[in-house]
Amino acid sequence: MKILTNQPLRHLNSFNLQANASYFASPANVEAAKAALDFANSKVLPILVLGGGTNIIFSKDPHGLVIKPGMTGRKASFDNNDVYLHVGANEGWTELVEWTLDNQYWGLENLSLIPGTAGAAPVQNIGAYGVELADHLYQVHAIDIKTGQERVFTNSECEFSYRNSRFKAQQKWLITSIILKLSLTPNIRTGYGTIRQRLIELGITKPTPVDVAKAVIYIRQSKLPDPAITPNSGSFFSNPIVDRNKFELLEDKFPDIVSFAQPDGQVKLAAAWLIEQCGLKGFSKGTVGIHPNHALVMINHGKATGLEVMELAKIVQDSVMDRFKVSLEIEPRVI
Ligand SMILES: Cc1cc2nc3c(=O)[nH]c(=O)nc-3n(C[C@H](O)[C@H](O)[C@H](O)COP(=O)(O)OP(=O)(O)OC[C@H]3O[C@@H](n4cnc5c(N)ncnc54)[C@H](O)[C@@H]3O)c2cc1C
Repeated sequence: MKILTNQPLRHLNSFNLQANASYFASPANVEAAKAALDFANSKVLPILVLGGGTNIIFSKDPHGLVIKPGMTGRKASFDNNDVYLHVGANEGWTELVEWTLDNQYWGLENLSLIPGTAGAAPVQNIGAYGVELADHLYQVHAIDIKTGQERVFTNSECEFSYRNSRFKAQQKWLITSIILKLSLTPNIRTGYGTIRQRLIELGITKPTPVDVAKAVIYIRQSKLPDPAITPNSGSFFSNPIVDRNKFELLEDKFPDIVSFAQPDGQVKLAAAWLIEQCGLKGFSKGTVGIHPNHALVMINHGKATGLEVMELAKIVQDSVMDRFKVSLEIEPRVI
């Protein structure tokens, strides 16, 4: 297993933040990953698993060994209408979704164009437009970072919730592959208003999964900045969830507040709306800013440092707390 030293990470994170890894490895298979873990454990080095770097903020250099899993491969097996898709951790999510559509394996269309790797998808239970990974995840195959032991997690063992899982909570596992459960029968989900609206604009009354994917891609491209052009890490803050009492107090004071009732009685608030109400949409401080069209997305105007990103994040959090008494949590992992 090749271990590199003093590796720059700027081109390996979508916010383009400069950081250096003292040690870096990209194992192509499970055995090589175990060898890299052995190396780190023998030197008592902390380990950071890095996927596509689209949901990570380097506020400083990571200590120890950065492991970027290199496992690839997509293999389908079938049980009647069900398709079980075994996918290596380093497969790009966007390319994977396109490939499933080309092969008519349905289920991932609403998750089109989410950047990052398949191995990272379970970590924050990626989700968009009314669907989340948990709806289609069958198993996660992982290695215990400390002991090197392999383990298979079933869907319920992943402890998925909104943008969360046991892998995010513990950071104890290196995910080597995932198995998705898709279907040969379409299950169209157009409950999200913007998808429906786009299909109506196109005059489509009976959408196929490919129509849904195209609508999602259109909406995403018209809304979200492309990190290849404007470095960013997608939604910088999670939508906060509050209890109904608190929501009613907020609604009395701010009748236009944007909210989504949750099945458990709690209420999810739109973080973008809260930030916009604080007058911060389009606001910049030095080389970091809030996107002018999307208040949830922080962007790098040039040579931003991780510290500058965290300073602006604090301004946003403090402003929302002052005005609404609501705490905003940063969605990407901050190093
Ligand atoms: C423009 C843009 C739009 C986005 N839109 C969405 C969206 O709609 N919905 C959504 O949910 N997310 C979205 N994101 C966030 C991001 O795409 C997802 O979180 C994605 O899953 C991150 O994948 P990654 O490979 O880049 O992970 P990284 O950023 O490299 O890592 C993220 C976390 O996962 C861990 N990790 C990565 N790989 C592994 C592995 N193999 N084993 C164990 N841990 C691992 C890392 O340690 C880190 O904690 C968006 C990001 C951008 C830049």
